[in-house]
Amino acid sequence: PPEKWEINPSELTFMKVVGSGQFGVVKLGKYRADHRVAIKVIREGAMYEEDFIEEAKVMRRLCHPKLVQLYGVCLQQRPLLIVAEFMENGCLLNFLRQRGRSLMDSWLLSMCQDICEGMEYLEAHSFIHRDLAARNCLVNEHNVVKVSDFGMTYVLDNQYTSSSGAKFPVKWSPPEVLHYSKYSSKSDVWSFVVMWEVYSQGRTPFENRSNLDVVNDITRGIRLYRPHRASQPLYAIMYRCWHEV
Ligand code: ADP
Repeated sequence: PPEKWEINPSELTFMKVVGSGQFGVVKLGKYRADHRVAIKVIREGAMYEEDFIEEAKVMRRLCHPKLVQLYGVCLQQRPLLIVAEFMENGCLLNFLRQRGRSLMDSWLLSMCQDICEGMEYLEAHSFIHRDLAARNCLVNEHNVVKVSDFGMTYVLDNQYTSSSGAKFPVKWSPPEVLHYSKYSSKSDVWSFVVMWEVYSQGRTPFENRSNLDVVNDITRGIRLYRPHRASQPLYAIMYRCWHEV
């Protein structure tokens, strides 16, 4: 991994597009000709750049085997580039949908454990993720799951940031976030809905309910059902994450 936080774009080579998201396309590339890296090419107008630069300084210091490592950024040019650890098997949600059936129960559990370890580290460093979900976790060549896209406070899209917006992660959010935008490590615990996603092999939580219905259901104490691959004791663990205080 690069030593310096600011990367000289001339040291990067682009290979192919591997995905696209909120901020633009993600490419597989090489750093100094031999290290495989993921390069996010930030679409203009997609983020508050100043906020991102501040946040990225914090993110770079977060270093844990179960977090997708941010290596550095290219800030001297537009589009901005974000360089991170490359994860061969892509996003966890697609992985679960495509390969979930062939994964043994012990793998499902170890994937949940990976996410727990990454999240435990974030909490220990007083960092709130705010958008933990299977779509924001990535899988590497050894099928290790790592948490990504943390702390997206710099997103410039109110459909995503406003709790009534169409892209807001309502189905992963506790009542205090839905009603008062009160984020904490506890609200990250609620987002362990991701464990439900793992055990349902990538189904969408509250599949046929609208966001508004889900807000009402959650407020009335209704919770996700037990996914078919989760035993009763495992369901009890996820259920405890949705306990209202
Ligand atoms: P955004 O945060 O802009 O919405 P994502 O981080 O979700 O974008 O990335 C979009 C897609 O690009 C992911 O679903 C995944 O397939 C791919 N991708 C993102 N980051 C990496 C990475 N570090 N390694 C490999 N693929 C990645």
